Amino acid sequence: GAPLATTCAIAAAATRGVLIKKPQTVELLPSIRSAGLDKTGTLTKGDLDPLKMAAAVEMKSAHPISAAIVSKAVGCVGEAFETADEPAVKKFKNLPGVGAQGNVSFGSKTASVLVGNHRVLEAVADPGARSMFANFQRCHPHDTTVAVVVNGTLRLGMALNDTIRSDAAKVVEELNALGCEPVMLTGDAEAAGRHVAIATGLDPSVCYFSMHPEDKHDWVQKQEDSGKPALMLGDGINDATALAIASVGVAMGETSAALAANSADMVMMTDKLQRLSQCIRLCRYAVWIER
Ligand code: ADP
Ligand code: MG
Repeated sequence: GAPLATTCAIAAAATRGVLIKKPQTVELLPSIRSAGLDKTGTLTKGDLDPLKMAAAVEMKSAHPISAAIVSKAVGCVGEAFETADEPAVKKFKNLPGVGAQGNVSFGSKTASVLVGNHRVLEAVADPGARSMFANFQRCHPHDTTVAVVVNGTLRLGMALNDTIRSDAAKVVEELNALGCEPVMLTGDAEAAGRHVAIATGLDPSVCYFSMHPEDKHDWVQKQEDSGKPALMLGDGINDATALAIASVGVAMGETSAALAANSADMVMMTDKLQRLSQCIRLCRYAVWIER
């Protein structure tokens, strides 16, 4: 057997939670002069930060919010995000009008990750999480707020500040002048939506907030049925069905053009929204000439 001192060392290590399997190790350990340390799961808990997990899921989504979250993550963790440490995502699912989800694997661990608006908190058992997120939203009334839920726990809240297009107010004014009553239809929360409505000259009391994608479709259907042929302007993400049934579905061409173009009658190949009201005017003129 091993010398008593060695046996004692093994026992002492064991009481400290370290299993020394071979007696030789007791002799070798004192001679160690260098040490290699693994990072993920060793120096770190192997518990990837929620922003990175959210970004891993969002990389698979085409929503404009996804791009914002991915670039936020790249900005925070640098190139490591894109190279060695990029986590694998399985079972990715778009949650239209809500967010996205997936199982993010890093090393041997897997976490279920949900990213999106307040609705992702329905997957959180702790009722405190909902009031915490509601408070967070109140602190950022003009922003699009995003929650990150990891394994059923609220881990991160993000406030994303979107920019209103410079001629958005102008197109609203012109649509009004043309008798094409503009209203905003958004899946975003009321506070963030109201802010954009007011800033672009829309009457918030006739706008719709927290809409599901089906709600936009239903709004278009209602307009059409009540003798008010509708134009629907959207980016094709979460509004493709509304674009499809509108008298004139107009897709913003910059993003996901291929997806939107299928369900749209017109594609804006410019980011100048005013071109839309100009088109209405020139088509009216063309029809008038034809008569
Ligand atoms: P909008 O109608 O304003 O274009 P959407 O219907 O596309 O908005 O989305 C509605 C809301 O759902 C967003 O404001 C956001 O809170 C949430 N959401 C949708 N997709 C995502 C995503 N990929 N990541 C995070 N949040 C998302
Ligand atoms: Mg949209």
